[in-house]
Amino acid sequence: MEAVAEKKLYHVDARGYYGSFGGAFIPEMLYPNVEELRENYLQIIAEPDFQKEFNDLLKNYVGRPTPLYRAGRLSEKYKTNIFLKREDLCHTGAHKVNNTIGQILLAKRLGKKRVVAETGAGQHGVATATVCALMDIECIVYMGELDIERQAPNVARMKMLGAEVRPATCGSRTLKDATNEAMRHWINNPVDTHYIIGSVVGPHPYPDMVARFQSIISEEIRWQLKEQTGSETPDYVVACVGGGSNAAGAFFHFLEDEDVKLVAVEAAGKGLESGHSAATTALGKPGVLHGSRTILMQTEDGQVVEPFSISAGLDYPGIGPQHAYLFDSGRGIFMSATDEEAVQAAFELTRMEGIIPALESSHALALLGRLGASLNDTVVVNLSGRGDKDMSTYMKYID
Ligand SMILES: *Cc1c(COP(=O)(O)O)cnc(C)c1O
Repeated sequence: MEAVAEKKLYHVDARGYYGSFGGAFIPEMLYPNVEELRENYLQIIAEPDFQKEFNDLLKNYVGRPTPLYRAGRLSEKYKTNIFLKREDLCHTGAHKVNNTIGQILLAKRLGKKRVVAETGAGQHGVATATVCALMDIECIVYMGELDIERQAPNVARMKMLGAEVRPATCGSRTLKDATNEAMRHWINNPVDTHYIIGSVVGPHPYPDMVARFQSIISEEIRWQLKEQTGSETPDYVVACVGGGSNAAGAFFHFLEDEDVKLVAVEAAGKGLESGHSAATTALGKPGVLHGSRTILMQTEDGQVVEPFSISAGLDYPGIGPQHAYLFDSGRGIFMSATDEEAVQAAFELTRMEGIIPALESSHALALLGRLGASLNDTVVVNLSGRGDKDMSTYMKYID
């Protein structure tokens, strides 16, 4: 990971903002924890010793660099040049581990003895439990009681990895309730506990910190493209957006290249007008969610609207503050794909390239026919994860 020059457009400013989005809207009780992170994260990440350990683990444990694969048959079909960034080949099956590795190394250097995390479908919980096992650090994952029932295989994985899975029994017993419980735990254990957030959301410095850990994705894309096409920059980078961490990582080193189109794909669920959607920028308005000012789906009087998507990883009512700014400024192009379109794209990739993608990543693939890319264009799609975890959904479409 390269150090990023300060004061670049589209990156966080010294106050923790991206334009009018970002900041740290937190209860006073949480202030010391967040402040400790804010004061230390940049310096710790820049230390040669941190960089060495981070890069070594990414290479030898996660399996980086992940390949940049030119999808020949897909390119032929869409009459353009399509490259897949294979985050699905990361250890644990998705990009999320890039971030949890970074944060566990940071937690160790801050002298923390325990990690808490929240998880919805369990992907972030598994990535967190994995690095805690690796580093012999106690791990507590809060998960909604309902999600524990729905995601049994990931609960089993976390337990096998040695994590304690604590059910959140209040409210709708899903992700937001788990988040509240994890926050409460952190407030009560400020000295010895680190809270690993799984996407580019939450109070500053989390969105920037997570984006930096995920920026390895675009760092690799640049030199891999150069190697394969002679040019470091593509015409399009396409990524799905739940909270936005895989997109933030795929966009990071292209933000200042204004002729690279950055396409963020949200989950339209059953359709934008259906009332069952997670397409935040299409349906949302500015407001505060999970500690930062961003765009979120809300009612007239500001209540968070329950999101819906076939893919658990995109089932989130907001987006990270940097994405809100990319949307607001026009730097990012925000589009959406429905459940049906995503499933169709998953089968297309599987049948044409022999790669079974995660349902989340399939939303990005679903956009290929709508980009307007031409024969000489280069399109990079970030394949954020593999589809093993989604087989029970895919099976319903096989006769
Ligand atoms: C969690 C997840 C996502 C969504 O999270 P982002 O922070 O938006 O990247 C996307 N793809 C996969 C495979 C995931 O597991």
